[in-house]
Amino acid sequence: MDKVLYSSTRDSSKKVQASQAILQGLSEDGGLFVPDHIPVLDKSLRELSEMGYQEIAYEVMKLFLTDFTKEELEDCIQKAYDSKFDTKLIAPLKEAEGTYYLELFHGATIAFKDMALSILPHLMITSAKKNNAKEQIVILTATSGDTGKAALAGFAGVEGTKIIVFYPKNGVSPIQEKQMVTQKGDNAFVVGIHGNFDDAQTGVKQLFADKNLEAQMKESGLRFSSANSINIGRLVPQVVYYVYAYAKLLKEGKVADGEEINVVVPTGNFGNILAAFYAKNMGVPIAKLICASNENKVLYDFFRTGSYDRNREFVLTSSPSMDILISSNLERLIYRIAGNDAKKNSEFMTSLSQNGSYAISQEMKAQLEDFYGNYASEQETADRIKELYEKTGYVIDTHTAVASAVYRKYKEETGDTRQTVIASTASPFKFTRSVMNAVDSKFDSMTDFELVDELSKIAKVTVPNAIEEIRTAPVLHDTVCDKSEMKATVEKILGL
Ligand SMILES: *Cc1c(COP(=O)(O)O)cnc(C)c1O
Repeated sequence: MDKVLYSSTRDSSKKVQASQAILQGLSEDGGLFVPDHIPVLDKSLRELSEMGYQEIAYEVMKLFLTDFTKEELEDCIQKAYDSKFDTKLIAPLKEAEGTYYLELFHGATIAFKDMALSILPHLMITSAKKNNAKEQIVILTATSGDTGKAALAGFAGVEGTKIIVFYPKNGVSPIQEKQMVTQKGDNAFVVGIHGNFDDAQTGVKQLFADKNLEAQMKESGLRFSSANSINIGRLVPQVVYYVYAYAKLLKEGKVADGEEINVVVPTGNFGNILAAFYAKNMGVPIAKLICASNENKVLYDFFRTGSYDRNREFVLTSSPSMDILISSNLERLIYRIAGNDAKKNSEFMTSLSQNGSYAISQEMKAQLEDFYGNYASEQETADRIKELYEKTGYVIDTHTAVASAVYRKYKEETGDTRQTVIASTASPFKFTRSVMNAVDSKFDSMTDFELVDELSKIAKVTVPNAIEEIRTAPVLHDTVCDKSEMKATVEKILGL
């Protein structure tokens, strides 16, 4: 079979196997691991349309993780996509206003990060075994809300691992925070920081790059790895659901074999939409990749002008998981459109870390034709939730609403009537207050859990387990530190 090897976006001289890239997370030089080529599906779309989620997951992932045996990969898939999901379909498609919402929020923490984080721990443990890595794996993660809980849920209680999650103390929704600070498991640690998501992410990156810390860890039999979407073991499982979505549309006769569709993705760190781009390159007939931002519209500006510029005000929005000014995974796309040129990519990334900006050439920009970027304001996002609910009874969360509002702008601008799949990235129950306020301001005075019950009534959807669980759960984590104290906090937790 066609072998795929991985190299860093900042140094393509060293190539590693998929399992090594997963184990390491980030490359030593600070770059991200990228596949040396994107494999093409070896089953027809028609064949895939007869398969369930787990089977499609195998067909997609086997092509990327070529040093995993069939047994290893199937074992990981079976452990991940099981009854933790509240539907056998894993990722159902719901039609509203003639558009398809791919519901990626039926896992343990009701946001799309579960799609990858329910399998990552198994991929990682398998990778450690394959590489004879004896150290205990310490997962270090920065979260804008959803990753943290999904990673905690994935790794809690997994033998041979510890997990430490940093989140911006005032930058996540109350339900997101409650989900994290009630996390059980002796190997799980949750820390709030005084700072925003970018501060948390930058801090984590610095810890990963800290050679002294690494040596200290090694002495204690520990090694870091990352559960952030920079880990290739996060990205690959996300390709699966785009293949699955197309297969389902084909199966149900909503598209003809080979008919192109558009995909709309509410975007923050650029992981999810990059996975859609990989799916397209594997052979899924996708025309446009529509990149939807909230008021932190750094990506919209980038697609429009070719300049990436994080020097701007950071806006706290009702879609906090997209409140991001440094979209880490964009580096993988930059590397690609720079002609897989690690040196050129490194120059852009150095400029980003030193000046907060970089500008790509016209030649590179011309390769971004598959992408369309736009953004939705807070008002447009709220209006979209209300309007869709009033017209169809379907209630979407704030992140999905950003995508839905951007899709509407795209359609108005282009007149493109292709069938379209919107990645629905969170359950409305996770952002209940913003969602209910959008539907009607009269809900403003209710408590979070009263709102949950009200949402259940109006949406005619039972309250998800993930929410029921935290109603009465005790707070188990109350550590808060300054963004400058992240290293000391990690050392304390690990007893270094
Ligand atoms: C993480 C997240 C996003 C953004 O996904 P990226 O892969 O970072 O672009 C969007 N919506 C929700 C609900 C999320 O949790």
